[in-house]
Amino acid sequence: MHRIQVTPAHEIVVDRGCLARLGGLLDGLGVDRPRSVVTNTTVGPLHGVRAAEALGAPAPIELPDGEAYKRWGEVASLFARWLEGGLHRQHTVMAVGGGVVTDLVGFASAVYLRGIRWLAAPTTLLAMVDAAVGGKTGFNLPQGKNLVGAFWPPRLVIVDSESLATLPVRELRAGLVEVVKVAWVGDHVLLDLLARPIAEYGSIPPSAWDDLVVRAVQVKAGVVRKDLRESGARKALNLGHTLGHALEAATEYQRFLHGEAVAWGIQAAARLARNRGLLDQEEMARLCGVLNGLGPFPSVDLIGVDDALDRLALDKKRDDLGVGWVLPTNDGVVLDQRVSADEVRQVLGELKRFG
Ligand code: NAD
Repeated sequence: MHRIQVTPAHEIVVDRGCLARLGGLLDGLGVDRPRSVVTNTTVGPLHGVRAAEALGAPAPIELPDGEAYKRWGEVASLFARWLEGGLHRQHTVMAVGGGVVTDLVGFASAVYLRGIRWLAAPTTLLAMVDAAVGGKTGFNLPQGKNLVGAFWPPRLVIVDSESLATLPVRELRAGLVEVVKVAWVGDHVLLDLLARPIAEYGSIPPSAWDDLVVRAVQVKAGVVRKDLRESGARKALNLGHTLGHALEAATEYQRFLHGEAVAWGIQAAARLARNRGLLDQEEMARLCGVLNGLGPFPSVDLIGVDDALDRLALDKKRDDLGVGWVLPTNDGVVLDQRVSADEVRQVLGELKRFG
């Protein structure tokens, strides 16, 4: 078992096969067993039900599956179910699922009775290395993604890499992109571990999965520890996200999984950085080479450059000076880089030819 302490009240445990013996694991760690397990209709039959059984908890609450359900109505339905079940302030709840379930349950627990404890058992790679780590929770509004939220870290994140065995390969690929991102930010040895074509991931040994998740979580934990509320260092984790979000929005969230759009975003950021002399050509080729190994990703063709630029101008993280890009350097990243429309046009043109 690997234990990573993010803060005194926010710990990550990576322990293969642990979902089947959750009750004993929590008892051993001195963490209260949850009274309510929340999952979705896909993950429930695969992992949620057995997790609840291993805890001796009631059958899990199953939310509908999909980003479209990361909305207020589902949060309100959790409040109703928890009140009905008699959950009070001393009780704990648990999320079993990907980033959508994790974000929703985290937010609901942040505000239910002014805050109750929660645990997360992420079942996608993206949720294991990103969504469940660091305490950002929230839901979408019709006007945009993640517009309401709270910082409310789960007491414990329980990662069972065995649950990845049922994850569709497209989701795995998208999660691996976020691992590439953290590797560039803080662990270039991890980047070398990722330098293999996607087809080979099916045959890597289970212990290698644990190693990969632990290393990625350690980078994110290190960043979050310095800057829990994303006012400085944590912005590094937005590498690839500025253009990634614009591409997702320009395609009405239909073409790309988030990680796929971020893969294009990192490639664009790498080219911008190279053009500005921040990143050597060989290092750019190394970063883009690892990402290409995880592809192919849905193409960026047919996305109008002006449309992408318009979406960039609406970036949620803009300030009075515009959008602050994170750009990769030879040994990490630089934050808050102001990039002109012409620079973006040039790299988008390159990516289109390339894609
Ligand atoms: P997701 O939760 O929608 O899961 C992807 C799909 O995989 C879903 O259909 C889900 O039901 C299915 N699934 C999950 N685990 C499975 C398993 N083990 N086997 C088979 N199917 C499984 O998407 P995601 O990529 O995990 O998360 C994306 C969400 O996370 C977004 O809403 C994003 O905003 C959020 N996010 C939050 C943070 C944060 O810091 N809070 C960070 C990154 C992303």
